[in-house]
Amino acid sequence: MRKPIVFLGTLGADEEAAFLSALSSALPEENIRSFGSLTAAQRTEVEIAIVANPDPAEVALLPRLAWIQSVWAGVERIVRDLGARGVPIVRLVDPELARTMAEATLAWTYYLQRDMPAYRRQQEARIWQPHAYHSPAETTVGLLGMGALGIAAAERLHQAGFRVAAWSRSPKALPASLTVDGAFAGANGLPQLLSLSDIVICLLPLTAETPGLLSAPQLAAMKPGAALMNFGRGPVVATNDLIAALDTGQLSHAVLDVFDIEPLPVTSPLWRHPSVTVLPHISGPTNPRTAAAVVAGNVRAYRRTGQVPEAVDITRGY
Ligand code: NAP
Repeated sequence: MRKPIVFLGTLGADEEAAFLSALSSALPEENIRSFGSLTAAQRTEVEIAIVANPDPAEVALLPRLAWIQSVWAGVERIVRDLGARGVPIVRLVDPELARTMAEATLAWTYYLQRDMPAYRRQQEARIWQPHAYHSPAETTVGLLGMGALGIAAAERLHQAGFRVAAWSRSPKALPASLTVDGAFAGANGLPQLLSLSDIVICLLPLTAETPGLLSAPQLAAMKPGAALMNFGRGPVVATNDLIAALDTGQLSHAVLDVFDIEPLPVTSPLWRHPSVTVLPHISGPTNPRTAAAVVAGNVRAYRRTGQVPEAVDITRGY
């Protein structure tokens, strides 16, 4: 029998069972085991760890690891906890996750474009007051982050008729099917994207460079009355600065799926803010079945070639 592949995670029992079952179905030729079911001797044989928020102390008990496969797309925690060990970390790049996230960006873009936050407030006050309609063709959506998720979101929004602008760390060759109003890169490009976007969607990873990337000066550089979605990571947006920008009307609304602390503490002012929609980190959930298929592809390629799949750049942080 092949050396075991270990699944390590700090998940609930049901979620762990779902991942183990999906991975075993996708890789019937492999011996996929939970960390707890392995003896100390078996742990010394493990080359591949598939992880979901692993306990670093458990990973430390696997001396022969060749690579670590995360089942999450965001890897800031595992890079922080395990990056120094030098074992390649492979993150999840799953087309189904990208599709789900793109769907979320379109759903909440419609929510903002069709003025639903204002109508919700008006209903509470029993106010009958139509607002001017702005079509997708009159609405520019600026995407921060043009990675696996940002590109899928941009394509979906473009197909729905929205004008799209893009920003990434380095200049990017975008798919030929995607027409953008502007493709910006680096620190100089950010104010340009912010100044032309009616809706800004953050799909950035959390790295050493991104905390507070959207703070008071950047929020002030946005179009007056623009809206913000943060579907990337909470600390990328400075919460107090965001609340101040919403209070002055510089920003009209924020849809937030990610926060500095999750679950969002009950004491957070965001819960009750009339211009904030709070979502419990649901915009791009990992689907165990499709994630397992992606992981299976990576494991089989490794078994065939001995090459570790493309890994996260630990210095860059994503
Ligand atoms: P990715 O493929 O690694 O793409 C990251 C993008 O961000 C790239 O375009 C990169 O620029 C850009 N970027 C990184 N640092 C930057 C900086 N300092 N300035 C400007 N741009 C920067 O990641 P992904 O798969 O699209 O995922 C993005 C993030 O979404 C994840 O890291 C995770 O935090 C978040 N996420 C959230 C959920 C949810 O449910 N809310 C679910 C999954 C993922 P380059 O193209 O130049 O490299």
